[in-house]
Amino acid sequence: MEAALRAFVRHRADYRCEYCRLHEGDADYLAFHVDHVIAKQHGGTDDPDALCYACSECNWAKGPNLARHLDGNFYPLFNPRRQNWKRHFRWEITTLVGKTKTGIVTIYVLNINAPSRVSLRENLLFEGRFPPDE
Ligand SMILES: [Zn+2]
Repeated sequence: MEAALRAFVRHRADYRCEYCRLHEGDADYLAFHVDHVIAKQHGGTDDPDALCYACSECNWAKGPNLARHLDGNFYPLFNPRRQNWKRHFRWEITTLVGKTKTGIVTIYVLNINAPSRVSLRENLLFEGRFPPDE
C-alpha cells in the first residue's frame, strides 16, 4: 500500500482505531494497520472508501470476518465507512457496550473487551486520556 494512501486513511481516522477508538499514541508497542473493511478475499478493494484505520488487536481479531451469528441470525460487523460509531457503541466506563446487534457482534469478534484491553483503558482513564473526545 502506498504511503500516501496510508497517510490519508490514518489522518481521516484522527489517528484512532475506527473500531475500539484507541489512539495510536496510546498503543505503545504495536503499529496500527490499514484494514480492508471487507477483506480482499471477499471482494474488498484498496479504494479509500473501503479502508479504515485499526489497531493491531482489532485488525488481527477481525481477520477476514464480515459477520457473526447471534440469536438465530447473522449480523454484519460494524462498517466504519458506512455506519456511525455512536449509533452502535457506547462506553460503560472502560468497557465497550453494543447498542445494536452489529455493535454486539463486533465487540465479540474483535475481542474489544479482552481483560488486557480494558486494563489499558483503565490506565488511560487514570491518566486522563480516556474516553476519547467524540
Ligand atoms: Zn481497535
